[in-house]
Amino acid sequence: MATTSLTLKLPFLKLNQCKAVEFERLTALNTDVANSLLEMPKEERNKYTSKDFRHIEIGSMWINQTIRNSNAATKVKHFRRLPLEVNNQGWKIIKTGETYSLSFSLYRGRKKRIPLEIHQASHQEILDKVITREAKQGSLKLWKSKKGIWYCLLSVSMDVPDANQVNGHLTGLRKPQTPCPHQWIGADRGQNHLCVASLPDGMAKFWTFGNIRQIRRKYQKQRKSLQKAKKFKTLKRLESKERRTITHINHIISKQLVQLAVDYDCGIRLEDLSNIRKTSKQRKKNKSDAGQNRDFWCYHQLENFVFYKAQLAGIPVEKVPAAFTSKSCSKCGSINNRNKHSYRCKRCHARHHADWGASQNIGKWLGLSCSLVLEKGAPVMDASVQESGAYEAPLNQVRV
Ligand SMILES: [Zn+2]
Repeated sequence: MATTSLTLKLPFLKLNQCKAVEFERLTALNTDVANSLLEMPKEERNKYTSKDFRHIEIGSMWINQTIRNSNAATKVKHFRRLPLEVNNQGWKIIKTGETYSLSFSLYRGRKKRIPLEIHQASHQEILDKVITREAKQGSLKLWKSKKGIWYCLLSVSMDVPDANQVNGHLTGLRKPQTPCPHQWIGADRGQNHLCVASLPDGMAKFWTFGNIRQIRRKYQKQRKSLQKAKKFKTLKRLESKERRTITHINHIISKQLVQLAVDYDCGIRLEDLSNIRKTSKQRKKNKSDAGQNRDFWCYHQLENFVFYKAQLAGIPVEKVPAAFTSKSCSKCGSINNRNKHSYRCKRCHARHHADWGASQNIGKWLGLSCSLVLEKGAPVMDASVQESGAYEAPLNQVRV
């Protein structure tokens, strides 16, 4: 069994002004306590317990956590703001009807129960697991966003099944004649489509967010003019808005990709893009255009999302070398150049969408994938190495 930890960020439901003011005041008080500890020499700090802060109205469990946090912060000289935090024993989730509420005693000897806002079904599932103790609860933090909304950050850890048993059905209904140990969905993250995933039998799913390029270009334009006008505050706000959009789309893609893998009982294979920025060159003109720039999408984040969502669902994820995945023919393995979206094999005359072919190659990767047609492949291969500066041997030569 593997263990996954998550942090749920849930807003309080209709938190009244009175409570919000109290949270703010107690956070300031808590920060003062932490700072008064930081002023003392390190050897003396360890001796303090919540009893020494009896005059403060914050509950002892919260104070204990503050003492632990200040002791752990060896390099910090002064906290600007230390959120209120309590360990796993200081909070409880209670469900009444359809409402989830959080119970904790922020003041000494007084318990409070505040309902939570829940927007996602997956959060509800996790909270149910916390109630039935299938998931272990960690710490609780009270945190205020820049917009002034109060959230509770609940850290939760739970066991997930080991991700190595995937039998793979070619379709949802039909089982393969001979049982295969693994079937893989290949996922190609590309320029034309943000992601293309295809099943071993060829069925594919394309993720395209229509005008995402225009949106990025629009943001780039606004960024430039803001930079010129030196409006840095607005610039920062714009950047975080753009980042949120990207994160949201990555959540959607990763969720649907993992669901596809669950539905067809397959593993997920991604191309290893860790070296791609260093090794593959791009023209300056393309690079300066936000819609064309290869760094334009946060693939790394997408990868992280896929990894953790797959782990929760018990789906294995593998990374395979990225070189030549979009240039090799997915039918016969010879290497051809793609013409924008379309791919045509000169040898076996297969024609298909270039990104689909890449995702097939990734899914079917065996270490050495297909037979290389030397007389045709080699010169083309050479030229393409110089052109796009691929860093590794083509797929056909990679051995495990
Ligand atoms: Zn071919």
